[in-house]
Amino acid sequence: MDSELRRILIFDTTLRDGEQSPGATMTPREKMRVARQLQRLRVDVIEAGFPIASEGDFVSVREIAREIRNVQVAAIARAKPEDIDCAWEALKDAADPRLHVFISTSDIHLRYQLKKTRDEVLKEAVEAVRRARAYTTNVEFSATDATRSERAFLVQVLEEAIAAGARTVNIADTVGYAVPDEFGDLVAHMKAHVSGMDRVVLSVHCHDDLGLAVANSLAAVRHGAGQVKCTVNGIGERAGNAALEEVVMALEVRKDSFKCTTNVRTEQIRESSRLLTRVTGIPVQPNKAIVGANAFTHESGIHQDGLMKKKITYEIIEPRSVGEAETRMVLGKHSGRRALNERLTQMGHPLTSSEMERFFPVFKEWADSRKVISDADLEEMLAFSRASSKAC
Ligand code: MN
Repeated sequence: MDSELRRILIFDTTLRDGEQSPGATMTPREKMRVARQLQRLRVDVIEAGFPIASEGDFVSVREIAREIRNVQVAAIARAKPEDIDCAWEALKDAADPRLHVFISTSDIHLRYQLKKTRDEVLKEAVEAVRRARAYTTNVEFSATDATRSERAFLVQVLEEAIAAGARTVNIADTVGYAVPDEFGDLVAHMKAHVSGMDRVVLSVHCHDDLGLAVANSLAAVRHGAGQVKCTVNGIGERAGNAALEEVVMALEVRKDSFKCTTNVRTEQIRESSRLLTRVTGIPVQPNKAIVGANAFTHESGIHQDGLMKKKITYEIIEPRSVGEAETRMVLGKHSGRRALNERLTQMGHPLTSSEMERFFPVFKEWADSRKVISDADLEEMLAFSRASSKAC
């Protein structure tokens, strides 16, 4: 059955776009630690940095390219000769180097930022791919701000980039403007109208400005994209990039729907998330999908009761499959007798049903004024409840 699944390449850009998050700057040593973990996570490509941007980034890319042997290492370059030469210089010792060149294709960027005509952009894109292709066959071309570009022009640029030798072409929703149905349609349009597309991998790069980066990436996969760019914890410029853990687990858990798979070792997801938080100091929101502290924590009595009867009632992901030890139950005002008794029993204080009848109202009263009830709180409550029952 697995042979029928389409393999989606996971291109991790935590160390490039992710590092461009405000406050996420990493030293070469820190980037190396993250790169080693990404290799353990078994992404397909690690984008290590933007070599011409700084000396530190050049060094990072060079060191990662030299050490990481089991994963492709990529470096990014604008469509400028000096960028491409510099990126290759940093990348050349990699076991499987990928040279990634980009240029914007939207009229907004052409008119106000690049101050170039479409013909000039087309020519520079082709020259950049050719220059990169002279160094390696593993060339990726990205059209940035693709989602605000005129479709006919985007088709033309991708076609010429493929003809010039790009092996992967990427359409970037650089500003997070796309919505899923429209983005899926854009991908389908490129698959259908760009000649040579059948010979290359179509990739997508989505941003989360409208909270749609993962949804857009999945819509693209449905319409034939073969590579998704993402970052651990979804870090990245502004609101961030598509979160790797969400894309991978959506494809995994909903294999029945997507009929796709990745090479990612999902049990390494938790450690990848924690390491990135330690290195960057950027915390993950507690309710974040997959890697948030509450992602496998239940407080509601109804849910706890269901979970204790059968996990599948309220849990769609086995915690161990993403490296979490187990489902956690926390006690709070929404919890019920069943979870409370389970916890007390684990603590060595099993209650009889009549004891529970007396204890439960005490628990609820305390829980009403606290966020969560700890084991120490329970010990105190038990002492209190026993003392007051003796008193009467
Ligand atoms: Mn980006």
